Amino acid sequence: MTANRRDVVMGMGAGFAAAYGLGFAGKLSAAQPRRKLGYAIVGLGSYATNQIMPRIGGCEHARLTGLVSGTPEKLARYGAEYGIPSTHHYNYANFDSIRDNPDIDIVYVVLPNSMHAEYTIRAAQAGKHVMCEKPMAISSAECEAMIAACRKAGTRLMIGYRSQFEPHNLYAMALAQRGDLGPTRIITSEHGFYAQPNQWRLERSLSGGGSLMDIGIYSLQAARYLAGEEPTEVMAMETTDRSDPRFATVEDRIDFQLRFPSGVMASCVSSYSSNHNTYRFHGRDGFLRAEPATSYDGHQFWVHRDGETREVVLPPPPKNQFAAQLDHLPEAIFAGVEPRASGEEGLRDMRIIEAIYQSAREGRAIRLTGS
Ligand code: NAD
Repeated sequence: MTANRRDVVMGMGAGFAAAYGLGFAGKLSAAQPRRKLGYAIVGLGSYATNQIMPRIGGCEHARLTGLVSGTPEKLARYGAEYGIPSTHHYNYANFDSIRDNPDIDIVYVVLPNSMHAEYTIRAAQAGKHVMCEKPMAISSAECEAMIAACRKAGTRLMIGYRSQFEPHNLYAMALAQRGDLGPTRIITSEHGFYAQPNQWRLERSLSGGGSLMDIGIYSLQAARYLAGEEPTEVMAMETTDRSDPRFATVEDRIDFQLRFPSGVMASCVSSYSSNHNTYRFHGRDGFLRAEPATSYDGHQFWVHRDGETREVVLPPPPKNQFAAQLDHLPEAIFAGVEPRASGEEGLRDMRIIEAIYQSAREGRAIRLTGS
């Protein structure tokens, strides 16, 4: 598609404004955060150190106050870089003593997927709120245990679904849900990348699965947040070259279709062998196309309507998706409400992921109970 017009999209109405405000409208003004809440990051790997930690400085309601790693050199290096004293450094053995550190309000779990449940539950037992990376865990049973632990401790739990805080994606959600292109009928969503060998993502015991757990989950998320409703049925097919050493224990490609109650159907791609980051939704009167759709930056969205294609160019957002996500949990804590992208949201995805795997295994459609 060639954009033949570039438009700054202004005046998107209450839906978009509410989306930018991320849903706390009245509640937050009544309960403004009094201080920045302190995050301790658990797992100083690529995503934590390259994407999350550099963005915390841009937050209104969050600051970095603790580091957790099994590698002393990383604690020393990042401690020096971010001014975190050694009294606020922890390893996996003494992690539970984080309970005695009043500077740490929130634990952000950025570990391999199979470790999310353990560290979320230990953090909750230490009285801390939790931000947990996607996928929430490696089974719905683990997700339920994480939600129960936070509920018991009286702490909040949020999943790192950064695209739910990204302005172009918020724009697309508002457009779809307002029905500006007519009722949505079709959603397509493709996410994939070439997975390099020899990493925990390709080891089922650490990842819980292949491309679907890691990148296909973005296709699933987009389908759900564009549809604005929960799927009732899923049908999936997998294709994996088992002679490729990368795929000894996890899947490469698993594509799935979702049926929604309104009749919307979503066709989704999840791949570890090809690069995709795109979605579209089609209504009666036009369609929106996004590519890249859910990347760290450089989002490009176009709306096609009345025979014309316009690029969506948004006003500069008050903060980027990372800072908006990081700020959202403190805002929810102070407002006394469940965050957007709550533990229940992560659990919903995991139940659908399990149904996708079951469908591919059994070669039949699986009905989702929606419980
Ligand atoms: P990574 O391999 O770069 O980092 C993982 C960290 O966990 C490392 O510091 C490693 O030392 C530590 N670790 C502790 N025990 C380990 C073990 N037994 N095996 C392997 N590593 C161990 O991975 P990453 O890309 O930073 O991913 C971490 C989490 O963040 C994953 O859940 C992933 O899905 C998520 N993630 C999210 C996004 C996003 O855009 N939201 C992007 C990338 C990764």
